[in-house]
Amino acid sequence: MTDSTYDVIVVGARCAGSPLAMLLARHGYRTLLVDRATFPSDTVSTHVVHPPGAAALRRWGLLDQVTATGCPPVGRYSFDFGPVTLAGAPGTSDSPYAYAPRRTHLDKILLDAAGAAGAEIREDFVVEEVLADDGRVTGIRGAGGVTERSRVVVGADGRNSIVAKTVGAAAYEEVPPLTVGYYSYWSNLPTDTFEAYSRPGRGWAVCPTNDDRTLVIGGWPHAELAAHRDHVEETLMEMFASAPSFLERIRGATREERLVGSSVPNYFRVPFGPGWALVGDAGYSRDFITAQGITDAFLDAEELARALDEALSGRAPYAEALGDYQARRDARAMPVYRMTLGIASLQPPDEQMAQLVSGIAGKQPAMDAFARLNSGATSPAEFFAPENVGRLLAS
Ligand SMILES: Cc1cc2nc3c(=O)[nH]c(=O)nc-3n(C[C@H](O)[C@H](O)[C@H](O)COP(=O)(O)OP(=O)(O)OC[C@H]3O[C@@H](n4cnc5c(N)ncnc54)[C@H](O)[C@@H]3O)c2cc1C
Repeated sequence: MTDSTYDVIVVGARCAGSPLAMLLARHGYRTLLVDRATFPSDTVSTHVVHPPGAAALRRWGLLDQVTATGCPPVGRYSFDFGPVTLAGAPGTSDSPYAYAPRRTHLDKILLDAAGAAGAEIREDFVVEEVLADDGRVTGIRGAGGVTERSRVVVGADGRNSIVAKTVGAAAYEEVPPLTVGYYSYWSNLPTDTFEAYSRPGRGWAVCPTNDDRTLVIGGWPHAELAAHRDHVEETLMEMFASAPSFLERIRGATREERLVGSSVPNYFRVPFGPGWALVGDAGYSRDFITAQGITDAFLDAEELARALDEALSGRAPYAEALGDYQARRDARAMPVYRMTLGIASLQPPDEQMAQLVSGIAGKQPAMDAFARLNSGATSPAEFFAPENVGRLLAS
């Protein structure tokens, strides 16, 4: 690798980029972290961080800062399927709670932690070009022509990643957007639970966040995007009417912010090549219905930091270390990805799933296990293993 000002330039400073820059800087690597945004700032995303994501924040020494913002711990998930509701604890003894910190708080905490670890930070920095020499990425050019060089450039720059586009990162397991979701924040809608409601062709979720507000996100199939675009709130209220007690609660509450809508494509991208790597949504995007993106970004950042440390220190060849990163990412994320695509189809549960749901209703250990499946604390392979299902039904 050639002489460069930086070991690593990270493009994008939110849930994937800032933790990666922090971890690399903690290892002593010269790290530049750039983002076109300034912080604190919001982004189009809800922000449920499941217990495995909270565990990463704790490992990094940042969970106390997150809880100090006043976002409440969430130790109970409920899944209302209409005739049956399953409610259980989503975490483990090490990490019992989920949190839903506003991104204005969370992303700023992550950015400041990268700076405190020694990463150089440039906000309001638009990367206009990714530079390459002889097939190897070597740096970036920002607006105004400023050029920076590094041994590796990491795209933590989200779904429209300029790094992924420039290198032509190949996509696999691609599926077009399945749902469209709209969210906002309500006051006077108290809950201490992450509530998920599932109806044929419809779904919504409710979670407490900062400032005594409650996040509500609801959605329908992407194919219905145009049909409801001009009357989103009415469509949401019609959907809420299928859960009368929730309808009554939200009718007594006040929406405090505008409704924001989004839909996302589903894909994996090859996350590395000569002089470049991808992390977070730049490398892997899935429907938001299972709220896994932030936790995935955190776990990816840890894996990539480990791989880059191996490669940059010379302990392992670059292609081997980064190939290992891709293999670990895919092994962890693919089963959850497939489960997410299934849930995002918004179809009623098939007969086997319907039997499982009604068979475990009211059995607390089994409902806890179901909550852990949905929080990502337990893998689908472990949960759906026939002997485990048998145990849960008998519990
Ligand atoms: C509606 C919705 C709801 C969601 N709800 C949840 C949820 O509840 N829980 C959950 O875990 N996940 C959720 N997600 C997913 C989650 O938002 C993402 O997975 C996560 O934010 C990805 O983080 P990231 O750092 O990879 O990318 P991003 O958050 O997209 O950050 C990319 C950064 O790169 C910067 N950037 C991009 N291009 C450039 C450039 N050329 N130059 C400089 N900077 C650049 C951007 O400014 C941005 O700050 C949701 C997503 C959506 C759309």
